[in-house]
Amino acid sequence: MSGNLIHNDLRINSYGSYLRRRFHCRVSKVNVDGGFTCPNRDGVKGTGGCIFCNNNSFSPESTQQNIPIETQIAEGIAYHRLRFGSVKFVIYFQKHTNTYSSLDKLQSLYRRALVNPDTIGISIGTRPDCLADDTIDLLEELARTRYVCVELGLQSMDDAILSRINRGHGLSEYLSAVERLAGKGIDICTHLIYGFPGETREGFLETADLIAKLPVNSLKIHQLHAVKGTTLAGMYARGEFLPLAHAEYVTTVCDFLERIPPDIAIQRLYGSAPLAIRVAPAWGLKNNQMWYSVINELKRRKSCQGCRLPGITGSIRPDLTINRSPHPPSDLQSIESGSGYVPPQISCIKKSTERNWP
Ligand code: SF4
Repeated sequence: MSGNLIHNDLRINSYGSYLRRRFHCRVSKVNVDGGFTCPNRDGVKGTGGCIFCNNNSFSPESTQQNIPIETQIAEGIAYHRLRFGSVKFVIYFQKHTNTYSSLDKLQSLYRRALVNPDTIGISIGTRPDCLADDTIDLLEELARTRYVCVELGLQSMDDAILSRINRGHGLSEYLSAVERLAGKGIDICTHLIYGFPGETREGFLETADLIAKLPVNSLKIHQLHAVKGTTLAGMYARGEFLPLAHAEYVTTVCDFLERIPPDIAIQRLYGSAPLAIRVAPAWGLKNNQMWYSVINELKRRKSCQGCRLPGITGSIRPDLTINRSPHPPSDLQSIESGSGYVPPQISCIKKSTERNWP
């Protein structure tokens, strides 16, 4: 296990740090809308979609599918250059299922995304049951010269929960996808959600133990939250969905991170939605505030990502804290477009980290 992966202030291996180590500059993810749909909506895998899904909750308006992808990329790059000083970019196909089309369309979109000389790679959000062999072959070919990440939505490892949320696939499809992607030079990111009705804290923590054994490169975690227009919002209105309390989420996420190997980069710790469609929970936190909630809890515990794994027990290891170089705020914000970096406003942010803001 490498000893320089855990940032001393952050107590985790953040994806911003991972990209900086790998590409030696500040890297941002730029969201684009490739005009995909989802097989869990059009009847091929299911109808109605996952109970929490409203794609408007996580896609900036500038990535509307009727805008040419080149324009979306140019606008996204300009935004990140200006606002964050980013130098290189990963083009992120986020909305819906971004492998759900013909190979010709995938070839065209992925290669067009890589034309810009400052684009170092692509990240493809998809379902684990929507990765044809020829798609993996294409991604493997692209990964020989560029950064390629496949973001697999698992959400829960519990098949009963996956069934209840109308996911349309089970754990076995996820494990198969990981196995088929592994060893091909393609990064694997896994998406998880905590707080499903009927989910237990212990069940969620078991997921950490599973992830720790898999060739997963990065993780996105967020709380289950209801947004307008979803089945979950209706469940909330009927009292069938009780959102997590903020403290419960932070505590469990810290317990989770302590079980995750330090070489797995953490991309996300919070899910937010535009105010206009937000239903519950109403924590009122910005993305960086949630990161600091988690970081400060890890500091309070004197723990860090992976500290519960064999050989790192007890507290943060001296050899896991050597990464002391000044870090940009990209470590603390979501590096995805539209995340909206907000200067520190909450009292729990210490002076020592404030000075690293621009
Ligand atoms: S969350 Fe993903 S898989 Fe589920 S309905 Fe939405 S786009 Fe489809």
